[in-house]
Amino acid sequence: MMHYLNYIDGQWCDAERSLTVMNPGTAEPFATIAQASIADADRAMAAARRCVNEGVLSGVRPAVRTGWMLKAAAAIREMVDEGGLVACRENGKSLQDAKDEFLESARYFEYYAGMADKLEGTSIPLGKDYVDFTQYVPFGVSVQIVPWNFPVSICARSLAPALAAGNAVVIKSPEISPLAMTLLVKAIEKAGFPQGAINLMCGKGSEVGSHLVQHPEVDQIVFTGSVPTGQRILKDAAQRATPSVMELGGKSAAIVLNDAVLGTLLKSVQTGIFFNAGQVCSAMSRLLVQKERYEEVKAAVVALAEGLSIGQGESQSDITPLVSKDQQSRVLAMIEQARMEGATILTGGYAPELSGYFVAPTVIEATPDMQIAQEEVFGPVLVITSFETEKEAVDIANGTDFGLVAGVFGENLNQTLRVAQQLRGGQVFINEWFAGGIETPFGGVGLSGFGREKGQEAIYSYVHTRNIAIRL
Ligand code: NAP
Repeated sequence: MMHYLNYIDGQWCDAERSLTVMNPGTAEPFATIAQASIADADRAMAAARRCVNEGVLSGVRPAVRTGWMLKAAAAIREMVDEGGLVACRENGKSLQDAKDEFLESARYFEYYAGMADKLEGTSIPLGKDYVDFTQYVPFGVSVQIVPWNFPVSICARSLAPALAAGNAVVIKSPEISPLAMTLLVKAIEKAGFPQGAINLMCGKGSEVGSHLVQHPEVDQIVFTGSVPTGQRILKDAAQRATPSVMELGGKSAAIVLNDAVLGTLLKSVQTGIFFNAGQVCSAMSRLLVQKERYEEVKAAVVALAEGLSIGQGESQSDITPLVSKDQQSRVLAMIEQARMEGATILTGGYAPELSGYFVAPTVIEATPDMQIAQEEVFGPVLVITSFETEKEAVDIANGTDFGLVAGVFGENLNQTLRVAQQLRGGQVFINEWFAGGIETPFGGVGLSGFGREKGQEAIYSYVHTRNIAIRL
């Protein structure tokens, strides 16, 4: 078994303890990784602080950072095949999706490379006696906590704008699926960023993660993960009023209006809820269908789910395993709870007899108040519900504590836009789930969190505004 290391202050380091990473497709151990200690976390924070104090990132001409970012992007592209295979085996996701995480990561570095030298302040007119202007100032040491569902691309999503803006970064990878992130950082290492600018460690969230977010040297926290952990971190962050970005969970609804085109909808259902076995924060986990089309759409969605292939990531099947046994048990328990509450399991709802942590693609007819229609499942489970009026659809869609994304399917542009503007969420898709890209801002409202990633807007999550007012 391969053994992977942490990257602290420009060195690849082992640790006294290690964590075993499983292959969820085979349910067998795959590799081990050094388990960072509190002392490792302190060394990483000290290295990042040194970079900030010496101004080796924020003090250089921004075009220098652009150069490092572009070199990193090129090196990440060279890592696509090797890194993709590791990501596929440690995470269970399809090989192509695993490679796409590296390609997307390269795009984040290219995109934010172009913004490093465009963080321009403004001049504010205050009359003849003053000169006043603003500057965007990097926070300093950015602590970034990453989840397991897209560990590589989520890591790059926060790391690239943080570096472009001139921050030093300390990253904690998830215990599950930390390996491909080390390959991402190995690639970025080739770009020549100053020593200590990027630090990566794998360790327990409750130990190292908790220590990092409460560390006296932390200037900003970027957390992507579940609501309970986010709430815990926010309490910790409150002690030092540390600015934070919170990218949390979702329970996102697609509203299907009477004039929706079935073929368009079904393509979106397949990617919306079955991509990455539904382990996507912005998954289409609820389908709300107007009454006149309900039976037709329900039958088509069930047929779609029943036609999907199930297999390991390397087999390029439609449905890949869940990331862990715990995750599989959690998803199956939520389906059982739905059954007990009176929901109808239209298809799926069981673990196929395969080695690995699979759950069959599942469609459940449920009412909006049931747990399965309110709480994030994080598996290949779609809840389907009917509605009569536009207002009812909006009320159901907005009727959870989350507000990450939402969608509308229909041919009448006026109606789809009218509905879209009433939906609670940071992003609304019309006629294609996951429309947009790394160029479009992403983030939540309500329990889905705050702050934005992706797009030009995201870089402003990594700086604060300094106003300079001069009395002449
Ligand atoms: P999680 O259990 O909350 O863990 C996320 C990260 O937080 C892991 O690295 C974890 O470390 C760490 N952590 C745990 N306790 C901590 C603490 N007290 N202090 C600091 N760090 C701590 O989430 P997950 O199960 O990995 O990810 C799934 C969740 O992420 C879902 O709810 C999903 O919706 C959400 N998500 C949101 C987005 C978005 O952009 N909005 C994107 C992807 C995923 P360990 O691994 O050691 O536990």
